[in-house]
Amino acid sequence: MKVQEYKLIRNEKSPTYQLIINNELIANRFLEVDLKGTFMQLDVCEMCDSQGCSDMGYIEILEEANTIIWKEPLNTHIDVEYWQYQAASGLRVGTIFWSIEDFKNLCNITNNSWERNVVSHKGISVEDAYDLWRIYGSKCFMPNYHYSYQLDIIEDNILGMYAIDFSEDECTELYKSLKNKWNTYSKVELLRVSNDMRKVTFMFDTPIYREWDFIYYVEGKFFYAIGDDYLVSCS
Ligand SMILES: [Zn+2]
Repeated sequence: MKVQEYKLIRNEKSPTYQLIINNELIANRFLEVDLKGTFMQLDVCEMCDSQGCSDMGYIEILEEANTIIWKEPLNTHIDVEYWQYQAASGLRVGTIFWSIEDFKNLCNITNNSWERNVVSHKGISVEDAYDLWRIYGSKCFMPNYHYSYQLDIIEDNILGMYAIDFSEDECTELYKSLKNKWNTYSKVELLRVSNDMRKVTFMFDTPIYREWDFIYYVEGKFFYAIGDDYLVSCS
């Protein structure tokens, strides 16, 4: 989800806020932006209103190409120093994308300046990009659920695939080959969908019909869709 508008509503008798993004309640007890580590606690403990007290309500923060990404911490990352980070419930809406301007404002509103935090931002690694891709696919398959994010579960629920330029068999081959390429990549670039791009779509066999535009392409280059109109180019 791209942040279009957001607001903070101060909770009574507490230094925390409700954080509402695009009319969705994303955090109930948001304290401040804290970028000192890779993870940030989006919902702090109800008892003491301080960060790091409980193991619930975490997000992982990535920064790339003037975009701040709030990503669900997945299994590959969550077991850090024997501390099990549980994802913030706000991430039921999927990965959240901030423009750097909005995000700096958010830092400043909560009295925690961007500059104070600038030390440890983390760009998108190949592993992050792969996780963002499968999270997006899982959210298209089952919106508003925290899911296992395994591609084989998505694949078990396929109705078919389509694209303007490819047959269904070609789409399937493309999906397989792009999925298998992940362990060959070493570089990731974040980009947006442009008007000249076309897409390949995955159709889910769900009671309410759903789709995942999983790949965009232009001039023989393919990009993995990671949410809204955000893509990654991997090489
Ligand atoms: Zn506490």
